[in-house]
Amino acid sequence: MNHKNDIIKIAKTMYQKEMVNAFEGNISIKNNDEIIITPSQICKGFLDESMLMTIDLNGHVKNGKYKISSETGLHLEAYRLRKDINAVVHAHSPYATAFAMANQPIESKAYPEMIALFKKVPIIKYGTPSTKEVYADLKNYIFDYDVVLLQNHGIVAFGKDIYDAYFKLESIESIAKVLLLNKLLGGPSNLPDDEVKKLLAW
Ligand SMILES: [Zn+2]
Repeated sequence: MNHKNDIIKIAKTMYQKEMVNAFEGNISIKNNDEIIITPSQICKGFLDESMLMTIDLNGHVKNGKYKISSETGLHLEAYRLRKDINAVVHAHSPYATAFAMANQPIESKAYPEMIALFKKVPIIKYGTPSTKEVYADLKNYIFDYDVVLLQNHGIVAFGKDIYDAYFKLESIESIAKVLLLNKLLGGPSNLPDDEVKKLLAW
């Protein structure tokens, strides 16, 4: 398993799919008592393995020549709170972030996969970017959700590995796009409550 290679692969995918712009978003993997994380202010599409930073669980740099991601604290908090999390992916992907800017959680009674796979993507309270306020509210949601919106900021997904975290984020971005387009067509045609219940139990 080459964690650094996996991060680069996901970083390039996210850039190509326009999930991150030039300066935003960050990715990390936990490997025992180390975390490998993307550097600050370097475009995800142009990263290579030598640019990745290695830090300890307190955020101290062990290896790497760049500044660590400005949202490192958010990643560390997720690893602290849930031991089953081994990867964190944060983005300002446009459709999910549009919901975050509107302070609207992502939920639906019309989109079966959204109901069955995610139930809801809640919003954690706003905090000034790169301060610990960003994740102060995370503890209230992370035990129930693997993907959350950061109010007026973006989206973050947690996974047992980097692919798990990224695919959840990509999936929610696509669902957010559909839900937003759906508003243009007059809004959802909701499923009956008993169908929603079946999906929730699935
Ligand atoms: Zn951010």
